[in-house]
Amino acid sequence: MNQKKITIAIDGFSACGKSTLAKDLAKRLAYVFIDSGAMYRAAALYCLKHQLIQDGKLDTVGIDNQLSQMDIHFETVSSESHILLNGQDVSNEIRESKVAEIVSIVAAYKPIREKLVQAQQEMGAKGGIVMDGRDIGSVVFPDAELKIFVTADPEIRVQRRLSEMVTKGMHTSIEEIRKNLAERDHLDSTREESPLIQVSDALVLDNSQLTKEEQLDWVLDKVALIVSN
Ligand code: C5P
Repeated sequence: MNQKKITIAIDGFSACGKSTLAKDLAKRLAYVFIDSGAMYRAAALYCLKHQLIQDGKLDTVGIDNQLSQMDIHFETVSSESHILLNGQDVSNEIRESKVAEIVSIVAAYKPIREKLVQAQQEMGAKGGIVMDGRDIGSVVFPDAELKIFVTADPEIRVQRRLSEMVTKGMHTSIEEIRKNLAERDHLDSTREESPLIQVSDALVLDNSQLTKEEQLDWVLDKVALIVSN
């Protein structure tokens, strides 16, 4: 049977497991998965590589001049989604601390958001997409059939991010992670442009005590209700 393909928007604070959930959902539903945070991280890496950010301050004139040359897109390699910045696979590099430290500053700049939001809306134009980020239910897909706002206990998030970094062989300390998550959450929810908010039509999922499988089942139940209507 041909089931209706919906749009699923997943938002929430840093390191809540949004991307894991979005990826698992997309796989199960045979939808497209887009990690919008990876796009902002790639934009931040571009700024680093081109000296467009120094001491936490953006060179906005430089960014405006170079924005059309910044190409960010996804490619599927052995059924894994990879992110390319001007043709170079930066999937690992965007996870490094040097990027995490500045990404929220870069993501607060309106012209960068406009460019990335347009690309995100184009990717999701046909539905059948699961996208995670901070402004997906509020700005990118305000008409999404299903909006989820993910939360988790801050200390659990710190532990999860630490084990993710360790698994990837990346060097960092628990203090560094704790500080970075707190700073990004603050910047992301207080910025002027598309701040992280919990929209009124989002369902709240606190996954502090849930396994990957349990949170996936929770969302799949919601999807089943929508597509059967
Ligand atoms: O999702 P992730 O933690 O990788 O996102 C990195 C950063 O990108 C966030 O802290 C936020 O500053 C920015 N971001 C955003 N809007 C999105 C997704 C991410 O501003 N939709």
